[in-house]
Amino acid sequence: MGENMAHSPLVTYVSVLSLLSLCPPFVILLWYTMVHADGSVLQTANYLRDHGIQGLLQIWPKPTTTAWKIIAFYAAFEAALQLFLPGKRVEGPTSPAGNRPVYKANGLQAFAVTLVTYLGLWWFGIFNPVIVYDHLGEIFSALIFGSLIFCLFLYIKGHVAPSSTDSGSSGNIIIDFYWGMELYPRIGRNFDIKVFTNCRFGMMSWAVLSLTYCIKQYETYGRVADSMLVNTTLMLVYVTKFFWWEAGYWNTMDIAHDRAGFYICWGCLVWVPSVYTSPGMYLVNHPVNLGVQLALYILVAGILCIYINYDCDRQRQEFRRTNGKCLVWGKAPSKIVASYTTTSGETKTSLLLTSGWWGLSRHFHYVPEILAAFFWTVPALFSHFLPYFYVVFLTILLFDRAKRDDDRCRSKYGKYWKLYCEKVPYRIVPGLY
Ligand code: NDP
Repeated sequence: MGENMAHSPLVTYVSVLSLLSLCPPFVILLWYTMVHADGSVLQTANYLRDHGIQGLLQIWPKPTTTAWKIIAFYAAFEAALQLFLPGKRVEGPTSPAGNRPVYKANGLQAFAVTLVTYLGLWWFGIFNPVIVYDHLGEIFSALIFGSLIFCLFLYIKGHVAPSSTDSGSSGNIIIDFYWGMELYPRIGRNFDIKVFTNCRFGMMSWAVLSLTYCIKQYETYGRVADSMLVNTTLMLVYVTKFFWWEAGYWNTMDIAHDRAGFYICWGCLVWVPSVYTSPGMYLVNHPVNLGVQLALYILVAGILCIYINYDCDRQRQEFRRTNGKCLVWGKAPSKIVASYTTTSGETKTSLLLTSGWWGLSRHFHYVPEILAAFFWTVPALFSHFLPYFYVVFLTILLFDRAKRDDDRCRSKYGKYWKLYCEKVPYRIVPGLY
């Protein structure tokens, strides 16, 4: 668990307890501000100042039957696609305990089926996505409580029926609940819980809700503003990229290092659908007109950033997949052969790429990730701060993540990581940080 104590124990406990208690009301306040307070933080702050905690409880929607039904249908549909759609067998990276989890790579198919089904239901008048928007507060409320119970289930499962040896307790109930117990929890042999929570529920909901916001604006105003089109297109390109590369995602920190607990699972089940989609939620009632030229500039800049972010991830994975026998920016890659010891005492080696994007800084891929988020938010222009909350949050998250990852890699690779840091001295922004 040492890896999860990247900060001092006091900072860790204070931040864990704050996040556990503040994230749920934040989601509700964010939704309330976007949908009922014109996107104005000041308006919501004034309301809370006048009405206090009682006021917060008054605006907190009760999870209704409609909300539960929408969530249940969606979750069951995604779980069925995950289990039954065909896909290539893919092996994940070797885990700290030396296991290699096996996955079925059918994310892109599930993504296509989901979007076609959702748009088809709307087109043929079977289900109107506007219902989702109109019940958004209740849906978030249901997700908040349902996901907390789900995390409790993960905690108990981690204690009584772990799926693999990549599991264990820190000895502290709060840390176990927050960071999780199991790295690869499964139901049965094939249903991977983190693939479901992170990819098929969380990331998929991002695309589904982006479309929902677009449709809501269309049904309210009779047209979709160019700002909304740019926002939705960029978010859809981003999520399409995600599913195109989903098997690569199974090699990243979220899946290969972060255990299934509140941080990752509650985050993907609640925070992604609410906070990540929030710029679009704001635009529904703010149909800003950018004009064709500005809209196109923003669109192209956003797509470029998404492409560079994808190319960074692709470069690292191609390099690892081919064991360094590939070209990076047209040349043989420069690399460090780093050995390390697994928790079971085996000595293994990994390759660290030190050229291409990975020679610019150790986490350069976070730069285009943050810029892409800026470009899908900037169509909201600058009348309110709240649409930019996601960009700010993402920046903090990724800077913290870069530090956590560096600490973890330093303890994994020791002198080899030190060598990498000497060769590539900047952590994120070349020349600056
Ligand atoms: P990475 O894909 O960067 O994976 C980090 C791991 O890669 C390290 O732990 C290490 O693992 C390995 N590694 C580090 N340096 C090198 C190197 N030079 N050569 C080869 N391997 C190396 O982690 P993330 O999960 O942070 O990012 C994945 C993607 O997800 C990115 O595109 C990121 O922008 C995006 N992302 C988006 C978020 C969002 O909320 N929107 C949040 C987080 C990420 P090992 O132990 O195998 O050596």
